[in-house]
Amino acid sequence: MADQRGEPPGREWYADGLCFSCTQCGNCCTGPAGTVWFSKAEGAGIAEELGLDEPTFYRRYARRVDGRWSLKERQTPRGHDCIMLDRDSTPGKAVCSIYPRRPAQCRTWPFWPENLASQRAWNTSKRRTPCPGMDNGVLVPLTKIRILRDSTPQ
Ligand code: SF4
Repeated sequence: MADQRGEPPGREWYADGLCFSCTQCGNCCTGPAGTVWFSKAEGAGIAEELGLDEPTFYRRYARRVDGRWSLKERQTPRGHDCIMLDRDSTPGKAVCSIYPRRPAQCRTWPFWPENLASQRAWNTSKRRTPCPGMDNGVLVPLTKIRILRDSTPQ
């Protein structure tokens, strides 16, 4: 039997699971200019989290890219930070100011299909981000990795 991506069960290179624990470094929320996609439902949740009506949220924090919605970024000495990244409130940490309502793109990190494409792709992402949480901390089992992988917005 194959899974929904046509792979035999248990044959992924990460079949034994992968370790990951977020260290709140914020590195996956900055870097080169990019996009933080969110759906309309996620937008409504973020607006509620911020205590804003949706038009105000969209005006202040969102931008349209190729017909989809992304959170805005702000340029900092560290890179293009997601506008929701808070480097000031917790000394030594960079935290998401909408963490309970962060979009699926953020919830699924680092188990994105492109990072899981091969062990090499995983290692490259770990080094380039850089993400000190990858290969550290809690062992995430294959079943959960597959769920996260397959719910990553493309
Ligand atoms: S929404 Fe939060 S978790 Fe996602 S990129 Fe922005 S700061 Fe990071």
